[in-house]
Amino acid sequence: MADMIDVREGDKRMIYDAAVVGTGPAGLSAALNLKIHNKSFIWIGSKELSGKVEKAELVRNYPGLPAISGAALNEAFRTHAAQMGLEIHEAMVNMIVPMKDHYALSAGADFFEAKAVVLATGVAAVGALPGEEALVGRGVSYCATCDGGLYRGKTIAAVVNNPRFEHEVKYLAELAAKVYFLPTYKNPGDMPGNVERPAARAAGIEGEARVSGVTLANGETLSVDGVFCLRDAISLSALMPKLAAEDGHIAVDRHMATNLNGVFAAGDCTGRPYQYAKAVGEGNTAAHSVIEYLASKEK
Ligand SMILES: Cc1cc2nc3c(=O)[nH]c(=O)nc-3n(C[C@H](O)[C@H](O)[C@H](O)COP(=O)(O)OP(=O)(O)OC[C@H]3O[C@@H](n4cnc5c(N)ncnc54)[C@H](O)[C@@H]3O)c2cc1C
Repeated sequence: MADMIDVREGDKRMIYDAAVVGTGPAGLSAALNLKIHNKSFIWIGSKELSGKVEKAELVRNYPGLPAISGAALNEAFRTHAAQMGLEIHEAMVNMIVPMKDHYALSAGADFFEAKAVVLATGVAAVGALPGEEALVGRGVSYCATCDGGLYRGKTIAAVVNNPRFEHEVKYLAELAAKVYFLPTYKNPGDMPGNVERPAARAAGIEGEARVSGVTLANGETLSVDGVFCLRDAISLSALMPKLAAEDGHIAVDRHMATNLNGVFAAGDCTGRPYQYAKAVGEGNTAAHSVIEYLASKEK
């Protein structure tokens, strides 16, 4: 059961047993097992579950389902999650901060606290732009809801890799005087009048103490006060700076434990082969490791 702690007088916040970050096969498997073991947890990601599963034309290597389309497999995952009463908090986790003996997760405008964390974020071409990581928190933001208000009446750029974030660009356009919309995909949707779509894609972010501009692939520089990078994934170093990595993946042992106490990882984010069966197996192992970890803390 989750503990309740006083954060401020009159404000009680829940510390979950665990937080599962990511809604692909690895995250689903971890969430199912935590649910079966009656743990309190928050599951954060996309209600679509996984774009990667949805896109697979034909899956032939998933045991028991000899020839299933990715869309049908994703639908089966969604049905399973719903039947088990699992709920998804739709948001991107943009930072996880260690507290004394638990973790605080920032997800959109919300904060959650959990004793253990399962990272099941998949791998995505995160596509950090040159200059981006050095300017995080100094004009580079990953969350329109959290930071949009800082740019009222200002000029900003939004680098977007998935149409599902277009509503966030529209929200930013309500606050900022001008938004340069820089999608990395074809056929973006219509935008309000103060949103301009430059002819070339973003190539880098410039600035010394703070962001001053975005360079484009055609050599032009746009002068901006801030840049919102709205993507399906966040680089591991931005998400959890002290997490150990190996060859660009999260380093784990065979219990899916990372170098950080109480933090486990599963699926594509831990390395190749990038496969459903591996992701599901690792999600299962990570959930069992969380259960053992929680039991060891209670002793
Ligand atoms: C076209 C295609 C075909 C494929 N075919 C096959 C196949 O036939 N057989 C096979 O075994 N494998 C196949 N794969 C590989 C398979 O899709 C992956 O191995 C599998 O989806 C990995 O699962 P995962 O849960 O680790 O990550 P993903 O499925 O990538 O899920 C990760 C989820 O986490 C979310 N997320 C990421 N960061 C955050 C964050 N900070 N906060 C909240 N949520 C976050 C993402 O939005 C995503 O929803 C295919 C992949 C593709 C692209």
